[in-house]
Amino acid sequence: MSEPTYVLSCDCGHVTMTARGEPKLSLYCHCGSCRALYTNDVLSLTGWSDDNVDVPDESVLFDHKMSDRQMRRFGCPKCGMIMYGRHSPGIPVIPHGVFRKNNGGELPAALAPTLHLFYRERVLDIDDDLPKSEGGEMIGIDG
Ligand SMILES: [Zn+2]
Ligand SMILES: [Zn+2]
Repeated sequence: MSEPTYVLSCDCGHVTMTARGEPKLSLYCHCGSCRALYTNDVLSLTGWSDDNVDVPDESVLFDHKMSDRQMRRFGCPKCGMIMYGRHSPGIPVIPHGVFRKNNGGELPAALAPTLHLFYRERVLDIDDDLPKSEGGEMIGIDG
């Protein structure tokens, strides 16, 4: 059986990356670090093994490291679209929105989120049926 391959381009086409197979996680993160890195109240994301993601050569990306945190975001220096980030626990994190943009506005079904993480840090209450993890315990990271 062949693995799904997701080809992900920025708005202007300068940056293209691919992700293959299954993500390690897909969730909504409410932590303050994701809020700071992406300037979204909630980050809807997939996290991948490095082996499953081919990222572009760093010479075609912008690469910003937050001065006060061990977190970086990467994106297109021409159109400004954020393509992925690296933060705890160090794996490439690709927002759901990057997949939507490259899939006619739909999130591929195989990438559906399974939980809310760091819900105690939220700035937005969510009323849905997904499990809510107050800290990072449900994916094995310390909150
Ligand atoms: Zn671009
Ligand atoms: Zn987070």
